[in-house]
Amino acid sequence: MFHPKLEYLRISIIDSCNLRCKYCNPYGSSGWNKKEYISATDICEIVKFFSRLGTRKVRITGGEPLLREDIDKIISGIAGIEGIEDLALTTNGVLLHKKIESLREAGLKRVNISLPSVDEQRFKSITGGDIGSVISSIDESIKLGIPVKINVVAFGEEIVRELEGFIGFIKNRDVMLRFIEYMPVCANTYSRKRFIELSRIESILVSDFGFDYEERHNEMISRVYYKEGVKGRIGFIKPVTAQFCDVCNKVRINSRGELRPCLFSSVTINLLDLIRNESDGDAARMLLEFLNRNSSKPDIRAISNGDSEVKIRLFEIGG
Ligand code: SAM
Repeated sequence: MFHPKLEYLRISIIDSCNLRCKYCNPYGSSGWNKKEYISATDICEIVKFFSRLGTRKVRITGGEPLLREDIDKIISGIAGIEGIEDLALTTNGVLLHKKIESLREAGLKRVNISLPSVDEQRFKSITGGDIGSVISSIDESIKLGIPVKINVVAFGEEIVRELEGFIGFIKNRDVMLRFIEYMPVCANTYSRKRFIELSRIESILVSDFGFDYEERHNEMISRVYYKEGVKGRIGFIKPVTAQFCDVCNKVRINSRGELRPCLFSSVTINLLDLIRNESDGDAARMLLEFLNRNSSKPDIRAISNGDSEVKIRLFEIGG
């Protein structure tokens, strides 16, 4: 009964955030009632159901997942589920330095930390927050031996001038820094003029900074570059100019327990209802039928150009 999209599950456990990133969540939250959030027990029930269908990787995201007081319970609950081999967290890093040790003990394996700028002022202007605690979180995670990926949404022309700063940042840090194309995901605040095609940065990295393409390290959705003398690596994820729908192996669940088959899809199915009201076999069959019925690929270029509308808020469904 395995479906390729069920290999990897992303669960957003909260819709609100403690930063106000202009490319993502300038509002702070959707205003959902906390009482509607799926509980730690519900989350584990959902993951158990998915693990029986073949899911092996789980990522916890948000909103800002570390704002959930029961985050340790959620992580340890999922870590104990048979079949789950990889458990990762996406966070803005503001609170992570205080929590990373206990989360590792709870069973967390990897972290992705967002860092849209390494310049203190620019970081503040994009996110509304302070960069210091985010850098502490990155360094604390590295110190504990937890693999770290750094997510850099390429937001505006300034990113070109910042490339040197990012290279300096990873010179002595063994991390994978990935530039991500700015996606048209926040209906009311998307700004077309802030979009930067990442092939431009990729060319500059090779021509001006002497980086090489690393074939053996190539990941499924990102091209990776390295340079002798630089500890970290740089990857490029291009969801807009090089859509990777054909290799997409994930579904997303929001903090109300609703599953979305694709980031750009507007249909959802309520998983908690499904799991609670149907037998295991019927729930699985209905989920697979739902995925097959809703498998069309989005035209992200058209959405970016404003030719079609999208109402997705990444902070609701998780990045
Ligand atoms: N609060 C956490 C954080 O900041 O990483 C987790 C939630 S955030 C929605 C997850 C990811 O979404 C971030 O790593 C960010 O890179 C990505 N993201 C948010 N808005 C985006 C956009 N407009 N285009 C591309 N990626 C975006």
